[in-house]
Amino acid sequence: MFDTLYYQDPYLRAFDATVTACTPRPDGLFAVVLSDTAFYPEGGGQPGDTGTLSGVRVADTQEQDGQVVHLCQGALAPGQAVHGEIDWVRRFRHMQCHTGEHIFSGIAHALYGCRNVGFHMSRGWVTIDLTPPLSPEQLAEVERQSNAAVFADVPTVVSYPDADALRTLDYRSKKALSGPVRIVEAGGRDVCACCGLHVARSGEVGCIKVGTQTPHRGGVRLTLYIGWDAVQDYHEKQQSVTAISHTLSAKPHEVAQAVARMAARNDRCAEEIIALHAEIFRLRAALLPQGQDKLWTFTQGLTPVEIRQFADILAEQAGWAAVFSHAADGTYQYAICSRTQDVRPVCRALNAALDGHGGGKAAVVQGAVSAGQDAIEAFCQAFPAGRPVKPV
Ligand SMILES: [Zn+2]
Repeated sequence: MFDTLYYQDPYLRAFDATVTACTPRPDGLFAVVLSDTAFYPEGGGQPGDTGTLSGVRVADTQEQDGQVVHLCQGALAPGQAVHGEIDWVRRFRHMQCHTGEHIFSGIAHALYGCRNVGFHMSRGWVTIDLTPPLSPEQLAEVERQSNAAVFADVPTVVSYPDADALRTLDYRSKKALSGPVRIVEAGGRDVCACCGLHVARSGEVGCIKVGTQTPHRGGVRLTLYIGWDAVQDYHEKQQSVTAISHTLSAKPHEVAQAVARMAARNDRCAEEIIALHAEIFRLRAALLPQGQDKLWTFTQGLTPVEIRQFADILAEQAGWAAVFSHAADGTYQYAICSRTQDVRPVCRALNAALDGHGGGKAAVVQGAVSAGQDAIEAFCQAFPAGRPVKPV
């Protein structure tokens, strides 16, 4: 396997070969095998190549039974000479990401004894799982040293040491290996057994930037932006910062402080709104009778929190008090409160009578009913029995 075209020259974008087999598959694709190939089959965390064979689309490349299988969207005849072209932009990105991941993982291992237990390439970033987890300061140091290794522009060295040399070599490996082992040295900072393809010099990696970090199975899952991915990510974040900067009339490097000031202002406004609502609800309550067995009123457009706040204030002047707020969906949202009684029986009867739902504790229930004001009015008048009170 190690003498195929993609290992001989990972930068080979086009080549000529002969079709040795073409087998139709149940998924409609054709499994094509060539006399030799520059298409890299999925392996070592690196996706399989895509491209064309004499104009026929290669949707993926896989290794099966020791052969490189090109999954083509059309048939090719065995014996046919074909011209292969791989999607180079996509492949080069894979090589950048793979090499950058080596450098980052190698330095995390050398500095803090971290093991890389997972590697995945997505569109636009890669994720790696490291254990044990790193502190923010340690992560920043790994990132800094990784970029220093990139800027040092060190050649990538691939070798196939014999068994004796391998025994004395200190290298990273995710699994037990048999047969010839391909050792890759990247950025002068990592030695790792790997079957993937890499850039020739660490300088081609371009940049290594840590994105998000989340706890994962006792370690940490990191998002890394490497090479062109880092350029794209920087572009998108720059657009985002510029938009926020314009909206808040703040300098781009001061948007975080500007957002924090805006959030603090919003918190103060929210507190003022709550206080103003309380004042309005008290003024409205003062217009309603005092000392009633039950009391209810209608309003519109209040939030559930405001409805409860209003009902709680009304409960100071009645056995139980209900507020019904007309919502945009046509229902009435309600809260029923009491200082002295269990209001859950009112809630249950209301829901049963007026196609409602909701519940709560003895002192406060909340819900919604699908009924008009007249039906709600009639229910409140009748429940359970007693002196009806006409709301203002
Ligand atoms: Zn590799």
